[in-house]
Amino acid sequence: MDIPQHRLLVTGVPGPRSLRLAARRAAAVAFGVGSTMPVFAAHAGGGVLVDVDGNQFIDLGSGIAVTTVGASAPRVVAAVQEQVAAFTHTCFMVTPYEGYVAVAEALNRLTPGRHEKRTALFNSGAEAVENAVKIARSATGRPGIAVFDHAYHGRTNLTMAMTAKETPYKQGFGPFAGEVVRAPLSYPFRDGPAVDGPAAAIRAIDEIRRQAAAEDLAALVIEPIQGEGGFIEPAPGFLPALASWCRANGVVFVADEVQTGFARTGAMFACEHEGVVPDLVVTAKGIAGGLPLSAVTGRADLMDAPQVGGLGGTYGGNPLACAAALAAIETVEAGELVARAAAIGDLMTTRLRGLRAADPRVGDVRGRGAMIAVELVEPGTTTPDPALARAVAAAAHQQGVIVLTCGTDGNVLRLLPPLSISDDLLTEGLDVLAGSLAATSPLCPARPV
Ligand SMILES: *Cc1c(COP(=O)(O)O)cnc(C)c1O
Repeated sequence: MDIPQHRLLVTGVPGPRSLRLAARRAAAVAFGVGSTMPVFAAHAGGGVLVDVDGNQFIDLGSGIAVTTVGASAPRVVAAVQEQVAAFTHTCFMVTPYEGYVAVAEALNRLTPGRHEKRTALFNSGAEAVENAVKIARSATGRPGIAVFDHAYHGRTNLTMAMTAKETPYKQGFGPFAGEVVRAPLSYPFRDGPAVDGPAAAIRAIDEIRRQAAAEDLAALVIEPIQGEGGFIEPAPGFLPALASWCRANGVVFVADEVQTGFARTGAMFACEHEGVVPDLVVTAKGIAGGLPLSAVTGRADLMDAPQVGGLGGTYGGNPLACAAALAAIETVEAGELVARAAAIGDLMTTRLRGLRAADPRVGDVRGRGAMIAVELVEPGTTTPDPALARAVAAAAHQQGVIVLTCGTDGNVLRLLPPLSISDDLLTEGLDVLAGSLAATSPLCPARPV
């Protein structure tokens, strides 16, 4: 269906139908499953989500960076319809099919580096991260994994151990998998100019070596731009220095591009901004236009280390998800969405830097492409202000804009619009956000921008 591309509120937020569904939900769905928005979805497409009461929201979240090509991209819809009529499932481990192979070929072609590669497909980002660790351990014969402060790698037992933030992701869910060491990240807003990228890498490596010998480390796993942790973009030189230390020490360098991949940051993969070629790349989220799919892609010698039957899963590389992925990749390439993400980034950062200049509560504006964050702080300090972030996001939701928060302290607004959004709609979304910020906290009114 063609959804009119504008914001429209016809009831309160939430409206009566959403309220009725919320009551059913409370009685039927486990309490631990949270939701950002108080409304229930009916349709989505372009840059708009329509709720069950007919309210139309500007989507600045893309279902957490998943619907990068749009929530119902025409190519994806057509490809899935064709595949669902042919067969829904055979299990690639029982009777293989071409779609899985074609997705592997596409990922081998698109990920950084021209070396020989292989790919294995899974269902979720966390599952793919776990498999990257399995592959690195199998190839190196070593147990250890190095990860970073503010890291987010998923909700399974091993990936909870790799994730930094305690509440809500880990609280009450231990004991966790062992052999995980954690290092400080390069965080320019908090490090200041004294700690540049290479210096931050030395600091991180020193900390890793205090906790584990390099000879015991299978892999170093890092998000090239952190997602849930606050869209933290390390200082230039940080990633290349870590990658070369890994190379020198036989440690597999794994880029978790689950959130940053598939054009999101104005490059097909965020590692490209620094010219880093990872040994293994983990992808999910934006890979398949909203269908569940994830992948590990990387050096053939590493990928081929596990024994036959050692990798897989019942649904991994499901035929519908593979058809969707091929169509999503075609949409990215045909629609020049890498360039579109960069243009969206320019529009957002120009506007948000104006906001920062006018409002001392905006500590930092950072990120790349269609992955931009606003870190909110107590005026003129680096002290996080999560209450402000919550209030601004809630005000934007009431005004018909879907915006998410993130960060270890929950004080970061994150903007992840679908690349199918128009400039007009995006600008209106940013207007609402600016208005929400100005309207929050009368003690410190923002000057108009
Ligand atoms: C979302 C995310 C994951 C986990 O993906 P799921 O599909 O939710 O399991 C892992 N790593 C990063 C960087 C993510 O953003």
